[in-house]
Amino acid sequence: MLINFSDVTFIKSCPLIDDAPSPRLPEVAFFGRSNVGKSSLINSLCGKQIAFKSKKAGKTRLLNYFLVDKTFYLVDAPGFGFTLRGSELDQNFSSMMEGYLTHVDLKVVLVLADVRRGVKEDELSLLRLAKKKGIRSILVYTKADNAKQSELALALQEGQIAGADAVFLSNPNKHNISELRSLVAKALSNR
Ligand code: GDP
Repeated sequence: MLINFSDVTFIKSCPLIDDAPSPRLPEVAFFGRSNVGKSSLINSLCGKQIAFKSKKAGKTRLLNYFLVDKTFYLVDAPGFGFTLRGSELDQNFSSMMEGYLTHVDLKVVLVLADVRRGVKEDELSLLRLAKKKGIRSILVYTKADNAKQSELALALQEGQIAGADAVFLSNPNKHNISELRSLVAKALSNR
């Protein structure tokens, strides 16, 4: 399946999955800690400045829906990791995310992790939850241009342990962007 990622339109921001746009289409969601490079990645994938860059900490708790090639919704999930663990805000956020992962139209989850920071509990729990729900997941290591060989090797091991396809990405030089486009297309057509 060929997807034209540059055919992309912002549809809406919504706080709850009940407000998902119609018509219902398969969804591909992007998750990651704040500042991981999620907006940059979405912009690179689509070849347009479409995602809203670096939202203020704790402010944006919305799912942003974009329609790509009239085929699927690219969903920019709120960045996590702003607040202290166990705070009311974080609990609401976790249950919202957990609710979203049970959403029937969700077909592919991309979990982003800064390659130098690696995969931590937040990313692992997302990957585990996706697996439990039978949703395909892709682990995307961002800022690979910043990493040493030893850090890349360690990240590769982590990816294998997490049982996810891992892609190393660099936004400034567009390294592996087209590979990621193919992986998303493949995951969508194999669903
Ligand atoms: P978001 O909060 O996850 O949406 O992150 P942004 O896309 O706003 O990126 C956060 C910061 O990381 C910005 O200063 C970006 O320029 C930088 N950044 C994003 N991707 C990369 C990358 O692949 N390599 C490097 N070196 N910096 C990046």
